Amino acid sequence: MTSHSEWSDAKPGESILNPMLVLIVEDDPAFRYFCARALSSTETPSFRAVEAETAKEALEILKHEKIDGVLLDYNLPDATGIDFMDKLRNIAGYEHNAVVIMTSGGSESLAAEAMRVGAADYITKQAISHQSLTRALGNAIERANLQRAIRERAVAVEKANRELIKRNDEISRFYHTVSHETKTPLTAALLFLSMLKQEVSGPLNADQMELVEQATLCCEELVSHFDDLIDSTRLETGKLHLEKSLDNLPTVVQRAVAGVQPIADEKQVVLRIEVSEHIPDFIMDGSRIVQVLANLLGNAVKFTHPGGEVRLCAELANSAENDALLPAGFTQTLKISVSDSGIGIAEQDVESVFDRLYQVGEKGDPVAGAGLGLGLPIAKEIVALHQGRICVKSELGVGSTFTIQLPIKEDSGKTGEGEYEKSATG
Ligand code: ADP
Repeated sequence: MTSHSEWSDAKPGESILNPMLVLIVEDDPAFRYFCARALSSTETPSFRAVEAETAKEALEILKHEKIDGVLLDYNLPDATGIDFMDKLRNIAGYEHNAVVIMTSGGSESLAAEAMRVGAADYITKQAISHQSLTRALGNAIERANLQRAIRERAVAVEKANRELIKRNDEISRFYHTVSHETKTPLTAALLFLSMLKQEVSGPLNADQMELVEQATLCCEELVSHFDDLIDSTRLETGKLHLEKSLDNLPTVVQRAVAGVQPIADEKQVVLRIEVSEHIPDFIMDGSRIVQVLANLLGNAVKFTHPGGEVRLCAELANSAENDALLPAGFTQTLKISVSDSGIGIAEQDVESVFDRLYQVGEKGDPVAGAGLGLGLPIAKEIVALHQGRICVKSELGVGSTFTIQLPIKEDSGKTGEGEYEKSATG
């Protein structure tokens, strides 16, 4: 037997506009009447009641009507409150519905059990009143609505997040492809320029040679930007691989210095290199460490005025510093610092220089050259892949010092697995 209670006291145009639809599931007709009457007698919140005598009837209604809340007798002829909650969970849209259970005195433990399986509240029939009934239902419906809104929001945020990750991935892949595709003809152009420089197709006069030199520098700078872009996308996708082998730090430093020395000379910045002779050969990706040092030295030269000085110093850390940093399996810490007497970095910017695309005072600074703001974040990741860390101390107008701390092993460099380690981000 199903019936809709039609005897609401609300006057036309009052808050009945959007009453909450409550399903009363109760086999006792007198009690059902009491509940329906209680619900219709309140104006705020306002309710409209639908009634069912059995669980079967109630579940049928729930399948076809959009019910806001359920007032459920725990002991129905065809189900207990827990059975009912079980079945309710399987009806789409009602998984977390506002169900208030009515128990006879003494069966609160069963009602508590029903709450554990999803009921919002319970009231005992002996203590029931119009107020307690409508308050319990009103609160339960409001809570269920709030929870539903939160769940919907969470689903929307999750969807937006997935979309953003997908977009980010597409952009990364796009940058990667563009960088690759552009680098290929650029590398070919560099080869042709090198042939011109070698005067393969005939002698060049001094002016022509100068133009070829300048064109070569421009192409090299472009290649270096594309390399940074490619590394940056590799880092994002966890595809930056290290090729580690036993290597020699003085040689690595030399390779880094070789690329920067001509720029320093031209700018009249003095490069001082001090590498301690006590540093043993150790396992590293030599080319990547060259890249890191070249970036630090290149920045130092770039941000130092003519007549200034850039100093690279490499030494083993003393044992106190050593103990604090060393990961398991490493025996010493190598410290490499690159200091300059350049423009320095303001206190508020120091924290951010390792962030992707971050550039301090990009515009209008006469010593700042072109850059993408990718060098330092890449350097930081490469150092991290070597289980080291990098930090910076700087004072505006005085200069900056970037310090790398790398854990190293003194042994032959063999690892347990293969001949040498291979590692990647991600
Ligand atoms: P970019 O290729 O643009 O130089 P980096 O990631 O290498 O990118 O550096 C980020 C920013 O950090 C630079 O634009 C610069 O503002 C600042 N910076 C880096 N090194 C120095 C330095 N030695 N002195 C002053 N500022 C520096």
